[in-house]
Amino acid sequence: MVLGARLGLLIALGVATGGWNMVEAAEATRADFGKTADGTPVEAAELSNAAGHRVRVLTLGATIQALEVPDRDGKVADIVLGYPTAAEYLEKPQYFGSTVGRFANRIGGATFELDGTRYILEANDGPNHLHGGRQGLDKVHWTLVSTDSGSPATAVFRVVSPDGAGGYPGTLTVLARYSLADNGDLRIDYEATTDKTTIVNITNHAYFNLSGAAGAHGILDHELSIPASRYTPVDETLIPTGELASVAGTPFDFREARRIGDDIRDGSVAQLVFGRGYDHNFVIDGADGTLRRAAVLRDPVSGRVMEMLTTAPAVQFYSGNFLDGLTIGKYERMYRQGDALCLEPQVYPDAPNRPEFPSAKLEPGETYTNTLVLRFSTDKADGS
Ligand code: BGC
Repeated sequence: MVLGARLGLLIALGVATGGWNMVEAAEATRADFGKTADGTPVEAAELSNAAGHRVRVLTLGATIQALEVPDRDGKVADIVLGYPTAAEYLEKPQYFGSTVGRFANRIGGATFELDGTRYILEANDGPNHLHGGRQGLDKVHWTLVSTDSGSPATAVFRVVSPDGAGGYPGTLTVLARYSLADNGDLRIDYEATTDKTTIVNITNHAYFNLSGAAGAHGILDHELSIPASRYTPVDETLIPTGELASVAGTPFDFREARRIGDDIRDGSVAQLVFGRGYDHNFVIDGADGTLRRAAVLRDPVSGRVMEMLTTAPAVQFYSGNFLDGLTIGKYERMYRQGDALCLEPQVYPDAPNRPEFPSAKLEPGETYTNTLVLRFSTDKADGS
C-alpha cells in the first residue's frame, strides 16, 4: 500500500515535470522501526524503484526485513521471511535476512588456531560455533551512515565489533552497503578491516520464498541451479570432513536446474540425513574473486527468477530444515520446514581449521570484501 502510494506520487511527479528521468531513479528513505526490548531505537533504510522493487534494511543486524519483487503479472510480493517488529529479531533468533559474522557458518569445536595462538569461541550450536555466536553481527545495532537516492539508491551501515567479541581477536570495523538499481538488482557489498590478525566470513542470511512469504507455497517446487561440480560433505554436526566431493550422480548435482524437492527426502543419503535436507557448502566452479553466478532460483508459480552473483568462493544452500512451526513471522505466518531457503555466499565452513580451504584470515592493513548481487526477472508459465 505504501509502495503503491509512493509510485502514484512518482507517476504524478513524472507527469507534472513532463519527463521520466527523475521517476526512474531509485529512492532511499529512512524510517523508524520501533525499539528492541532494552529500549534501543531501530531505524530502517528503505530503497525502492519505479519498477516495483523495494527493500527494507534495519540497523539491527543490518537485516533485510522485507524485499518486494514483482511477479510475471507485475504483482509485487515480499519474498523473504522475517518479523514484523524489531524486538522479535532478538527474542526469536533465526538470522532471518540478517548480516551474519564475524564468521558466518560453523567452526568445528568452537575453536581455531591462528599464528600459533588458540582462540576459544562460544559453542552455540552443540559443540560448534555458528554465525558469530550469541552476539554476532546479526544481533548488534549498526549505524545507518548514509542513504542516497539515485541510480542506484544506496544505504550504508557500519558497526565496530570490539577486540575479543565472541572470542574473536581484533577490533573489526564492518561496512555493509546496500544498493538497489533501477532494474531491480540488489547489491550488497561487505567490507571489513581489523587492528589484529583475525578471521572473517560475512554474508547475508535471507530466507527466500519466491512465491511470496505471505503465501502458502513452500520452496520444494522451486527450481535451483548452482554451477558447482563439488561440495563439502559434512559430519553429523555439519562440520566439513575436508573432502571436496563430486556432485555427479548425487542429490547435490544442481549444475542443471532441478526441482529442490526431488531428492530432499531420500533417507538413504547420509549427507541429507545429517542436514535434514540441504545444508551444504557448494564450491562455485571457476571462482576467482570476481563477480560470478552462484545460483539461479526459479519459482514456476509466480514466474519470479532470482539470480545470485558473488565474489565469494562458495555458497551455502540451506533448505530451511530447522524451521519447526514454532516461529510466527510477518503476515502471521507459521514457518515450517521448507517454507524458505537460504543461499549464503561465503568462504567454506570451518575454513580456519582447514589450511587446504580458501583462507578466512584478515591482517591489519588488508580489507576483507564480499559482494553479492540478487538479480530479478520473470519468466512465463511455460518456463520461457
Ligand atoms: C545453517 C543452518 C542453520 C541456520 C540457522 C544456516 O546458515 O547452515 O545449519 O540452522 O543457518 O538459521
